[in-house]
Amino acid sequence: MSKTLFNCPNCGAVYRVIQAEAGPESKDREITCRSCGGPLHGREGSFVLKYFLVERPRIQALGRRSG
Ligand SMILES: [Zn+2]
Repeated sequence: MSKTLFNCPNCGAVYRVIQAEAGPESKDREITCRSCGGPLHGREGSFVLKYFLVERPRIQALGRRSG
């Protein structure tokens, strides 16, 4: 079991990437960064990639709001 960490090139969010065998329902599916909405690779050869958000990017405080 291998862990692969991936950094979104756009916002720096950290994802854990898991390769899964492409099933019959695994069609080309666009995956986007949950943080910035940028495109992520959804497929690697015959595997599909699943992204699990590990760490949100450190965004410089653009008007902090608490609550
Ligand atoms: Zn991103």
